[in-house]
Amino acid sequence: MINFNVPPFTGKESEYMMQAVKNEKICGDGTFTKKCSRWMEEKFTSNKVLLTTSCTSAIELSALLLDIKEGDEVICPSFTFVSTVNPFVLRGAKIKFVDIRPDTMNIDENKIEAAITSNTKAIVVVHYAGVSCEMSKVMEIAWKYKLAVVEDAAQGVMSKYNDKYLGTIGDFGCYSFHETKNYSMGEGGAFLVQNQKLAERAEIIREKGTNRAQFFRGQVDKYTWQDMGSSYLPSDMLAAYLWAQLELAEEINQNRLKTWNKYYSNFKFLAERGKIDLPSIPTNCTHNAHMFYIKCKDLSERTELIQYLKKNEILAVFHYIPLHSSPAGLKYGEFVGEDTFTTKESERLVRLPLYYQIDDNDLDKVIRCVKEFYND
Ligand SMILES: *Cc1c(COP(=O)(O)O)cnc(C)c1O
Repeated sequence: MINFNVPPFTGKESEYMMQAVKNEKICGDGTFTKKCSRWMEEKFTSNKVLLTTSCTSAIELSALLLDIKEGDEVICPSFTFVSTVNPFVLRGAKIKFVDIRPDTMNIDENKIEAAITSNTKAIVVVHYAGVSCEMSKVMEIAWKYKLAVVEDAAQGVMSKYNDKYLGTIGDFGCYSFHETKNYSMGEGGAFLVQNQKLAERAEIIREKGTNRAQFFRGQVDKYTWQDMGSSYLPSDMLAAYLWAQLELAEEINQNRLKTWNKYYSNFKFLAERGKIDLPSIPTNCTHNAHMFYIKCKDLSERTELIQYLKKNEILAVFHYIPLHSSPAGLKYGEFVGEDTFTTKESERLVRLPLYYQIDDNDLDKVIRCVKEFYND
């Protein structure tokens, strides 16, 4: 069976995890946590990077920092994972869903303005498949209406918009290191923040509302309860696992891109003959090959393709069921404007196996089977 995903493993993970154990520092903010966050601060040019227990908790940190309360509204796409919106729903906000662009499956930047009301507090963008949203336009709208921008960059680690790494463009950036993502620690994430005052508050909220981090740096002589907060620190053992992958970040990225490009060049013919649609990468975006998807004619063709691949022992999956039409989405949110692309495009999309060091023969088999399905 060709798996859809295999979590990345470089070989150094166990050694580093044992080092963390030997350091007798297995709670949060140990040596490996510091290595990981420093590395990301330098690599991505971010004022502050805090490791978190997940991308979900990084987005929760965003909602807490923005003081989101009952009656506030947040704008985001409906074609996304639940973690984009749950953190705001937990604070009592109402979600205003906006349609996506069919070419990138990202929020349609030209439909954001129509969803803004006097209650709007933030725009939450999702860089689907590690391909950036049209951030100049998003930031321009945010400045005009004084709204915060949260980047759900769960899939966008190492991707760029123009010269900037995703996660460093908006007020807050949120990464995921879940096992399904490009770099992993099993469960984990990171929170990126540029404003220094907000970075200091983020540090406190992440540490149960205490100034423990300042205490360890010798900036205060005791630590106390400063603010509301929670526990968003991952164990240093998990950071050690992640460190093994960040060390090889470029190699992992190149390896994934090679697979992505091979899929793309092999399926170009099918797209040119109008049988399928391929992802499109805008010229100002550098992506990280987080996923490779194709779009079938419609839902029934997609179901047949997934079954055909399964018969050939290949696992391919689809997502997302649009949030606005799901039970919680109906309760906590509302779609603004026409759903021209969200539902229709999500029903056509199928993701093919893509992971670090996918076997060449397996990759060839996936390509062959998709071509066979389309009688190519
Ligand atoms: C994976 C993912 C998340 C959640 O990440 P966790 O680290 O599992 O919390 C959020 N948003 C998007 C778009 C994702 O793909």
